[in-house]
Amino acid sequence: MAKKRTKKYVYYFGGKQSEGRSQMKLLLGGKGANLAEMAQLGLPVPPGFTITTEACDEYYKIGRKKLMAAIKPQVNAALKKLEKATGKTFGKGPKPLLMSVRSGAAVSMPGMMDTVLNLGLNPDTIKALIELTGNERFVMDSYRRFIQMFGDVVMGVAHHDFEHELDAVKKARKRKLDTDLTLDDLKEVIRRYKRVYKKSVGKAFPTDPKEQLYAGVDAVFGSWKNPRAIKYRQLNDIRGLLGTAVNCQTMVFGNSGDNSATGVAFTRDPSTGEHKYFYGEYLINAQGEDVVAGIRTPQQITLKGSREWAKAQKISEKVRKTEYPSLQELMPRVFKQLDNIRIRLEKHYREMQDVEFTIEDGTLYMLQTRTGKRTAKAAVKIATDMVKEKLITEKQAVLRVDPDALDQLLHPVFVKASEDKARCLTVGLPASPGAATGQAVFGADEAEAWKAKGHQVILCRTETSPEDIGGMAASAGILTSRGGMTSHAAVVARGMGTCCVAGAGDVQINYAARKMAVNGVTVKQGDWISLNGSTGALYLGKVDTVDPSLTGPFGTIMKLADKYRKLGVRTNADTPHDTAVAVKFGAEGIGLCRTEHMFFEGDRIVSFRRLILVAESVKKLKEQHGVETLEDLERTCRKCGKSCASAMTAIKQYKQALAELLPLQRKDFTGIFRALKGRPCTVRLLDPPLHEFLPHDSAGQKEMAKIMKVKPARIKQLVDSLHEFNPMLGHRGCRLGITYPEVTEMQTRAICEAAAKVKGSKPEIMVPLVGNVKELANQKALIVDTIAAVEKAKKKKINVLIGTMIEVPRAAMTADEIATEAEFFSFGTNDLTQMGCGFSRDDAGKFLGEYVERGIFEYDPFQVLDQKGVGRLVETSVELGKKARKDLKIGICGEHGGEPKSVEFCHRVGLNYVSCSPFRVPIARLAAAQAALRK
Ligand code: ADP
Ligand code: MG
Ligand code: MG
Repeated sequence: MAKKRTKKYVYYFGGKQSEGRSQMKLLLGGKGANLAEMAQLGLPVPPGFTITTEACDEYYKIGRKKLMAAIKPQVNAALKKLEKATGKTFGKGPKPLLMSVRSGAAVSMPGMMDTVLNLGLNPDTIKALIELTGNERFVMDSYRRFIQMFGDVVMGVAHHDFEHELDAVKKARKRKLDTDLTLDDLKEVIRRYKRVYKKSVGKAFPTDPKEQLYAGVDAVFGSWKNPRAIKYRQLNDIRGLLGTAVNCQTMVFGNSGDNSATGVAFTRDPSTGEHKYFYGEYLINAQGEDVVAGIRTPQQITLKGSREWAKAQKISEKVRKTEYPSLQELMPRVFKQLDNIRIRLEKHYREMQDVEFTIEDGTLYMLQTRTGKRTAKAAVKIATDMVKEKLITEKQAVLRVDPDALDQLLHPVFVKASEDKARCLTVGLPASPGAATGQAVFGADEAEAWKAKGHQVILCRTETSPEDIGGMAASAGILTSRGGMTSHAAVVARGMGTCCVAGAGDVQINYAARKMAVNGVTVKQGDWISLNGSTGALYLGKVDTVDPSLTGPFGTIMKLADKYRKLGVRTNADTPHDTAVAVKFGAEGIGLCRTEHMFFEGDRIVSFRRLILVAESVKKLKEQHGVETLEDLERTCRKCGKSCASAMTAIKQYKQALAELLPLQRKDFTGIFRALKGRPCTVRLLDPPLHEFLPHDSAGQKEMAKIMKVKPARIKQLVDSLHEFNPMLGHRGCRLGITYPEVTEMQTRAICEAAAKVKGSKPEIMVPLVGNVKELANQKALIVDTIAAVEKAKKKKINVLIGTMIEVPRAAMTADEIATEAEFFSFGTNDLTQMGCGFSRDDAGKFLGEYVERGIFEYDPFQVLDQKGVGRLVETSVELGKKARKDLKIGICGEHGGEPKSVEFCHRVGLNYVSCSPFRVPIARLAAAQAALRK
């Protein structure tokens, strides 16, 4: 008869008998898998066993009772094996076995259950342990820790209630540190703890070790779905895990006296990546998390580290040596052993490790190893160093660095010593990374004016709005007292790459008096302040900054990324300055040059408004006279003389506006083409609805009327007539170019004339919002004629590609037709998402958050491309487009172009390039390389 195989829930670890491996993280959790691996390697790991994440999964599926019953036989068997291996017995003398119960998912995750140490203590084992060690103080110290941890972690007794009693005893008996507590003090603490426990739980503290153990295991599984843990997984995008594993491990004691200690260490410096020495801290006579809990000042592991630490703390060598000696000095033999383990682990894992260790009476034990968390700076340094050390390959190095983290490296930062000295006034939200120092100004206009006079300014506002753009661009940093990480200030600042601290609630701005108050300090206009956009800190006065270094390890990683990526990376930029920045960051061209921004700057808006004012009249005249072009209209009107006088005025104004705009646009393009030095540039023709260019308040309308020499009512009427219920689906994009062909013509002319001027320019003219191939055909004919006209006038061949943005679902589905006219496609995934999902970009904020929380959409589709839906449209049009035109060039220019997951998608569906804002270019380069390497 075949025996029913039960599932294996429990994996033993200890020496060569270990059943786990580091590759089994999904099943055993990171901690369990690596404990098994270290034990296999022959490192001194206290033996124990791991209950799998599958058990945790079933805990929720079949219920805790059934699951606990199912694992019991296996746990008991593992306990037997453990007793045999250690020569100790669980719950009995003469050598009682004590255990720790530790949670550990595949991804390290604060927020889940804390560890319980010293499990298995009860009156019998306490007695036996005292006899065995002759150290009653140590046993009582372990016991009071156990009651507190078990009570707090497993039974939910308020942590504070225990701390309160401990403090009371310390105070009454005048003890400063935990280590000052005498045996008698500890006994008093234990008495009080038991009282607290009983009061809160309603039962006496459990004495049955098995009951203690199972309650601990149960609590770990239960903690997987506590709100803190769920929130943490959400925030960190941790998905697809079964649950947490539980590690039950033989205790070793760092608190058994002055020849014992516990510590944590990194095999390389997690903040700089240096590995001149071993980075870590330890405490003598301590247990568990004492080191990180800050109850005593931890000491450094190496002598070198210890001396540097003392120097920074302004502690003399004499005091250091006597009060805070390094492990290297205090226990040289153990130090040597630990240092060898460091080298061994790095060689084995080929990765920087973060380890926990304990020394019990001079014997070293390893309690944990895992991939160490690090700053972006350390990440690139470690990855490139490890290639040099032949620990990893170039490809592995490229995969080691998180693309999003690179952002930290692209902005100026404070000189640490200078920042340490500065007076921090408050801390707001770290809305846009980098560091800035400048003089406080409280208005956008002032920011521009001060900047023009050569000042370096920080714009301080309650919040910002679109009118402040100019001032924001002129500022070295932006501070707001209201608004969150997605406030206008935060979003715009990140786009500009300008440092921003948002929502600093302690800041009270008084615009009228041109000053602000922050926690009792007054900052007047012109006073120097500094912002750290990576931490949110606001400082009084100047703090020294250094520019980011794009060479060194960063440069090396970028070079490697370029070597392995297949996707091109361009930038979205519409000024020569942004273009230059992007080129410095490695952009291979411009994927989206928006031209409307150019219409807003300075006096240009006047010319453009003049054009809008008469555009409709001119169009009507053309219809009346049955002519297509402006020249024909002019000729007809001139012929009929007087009656067309007003028509002639409108035509004249229209032409004048176009004539004013042409050289300005040409100048913009010339600057951009120069900054590009022969790289291609996709220019998008006018896109937004005209309404956006007009003043909406009566003051603004009055002013416009004055400049245009018409009555304010005329302007109001114009604004009203252009009002649309749904402007995003209204008269915009190529629909404008079809109605007002002169604008397309003027823009094309400006592009071509600039191209004729700057040798090597590679303009690509992009028609926006095409949904039907005939729209494109219409615009293309106009563009082709204009190019020919310029070529003739300049006696020069101008190489221009003509293509379209794919952003209307109809265009995506008829891409084969569109490709017969278009020489390139660029996916405008912002609009494609809006129209593809039917989510208004401006209104979706109201519900998208909830959609993501409920899992209806995995991510906000405006941030991470919705691959299933919108991505399908992209894929379909790539296929159709390439079928119709083999050499069709295809890119993406939506916000998604700089988002790593979306970049990976673009690689997979065979786009030629992605385009993103300048500061995301390095991120996209690295993400593209990773996509190519992951396949
Ligand atoms: P975390 O995941 O929060 O780091 P751990 O499970 O690693 O929690 O446990 C916290 C601390 O408890 C560790 O730093 C270690 O020093 C201590 N600890 C855990 N298990 C044992 C053990 N068997 N013996 C001694 N100390 C232990
Ligand atoms: Mg912890
Ligand atoms: Mg740990």
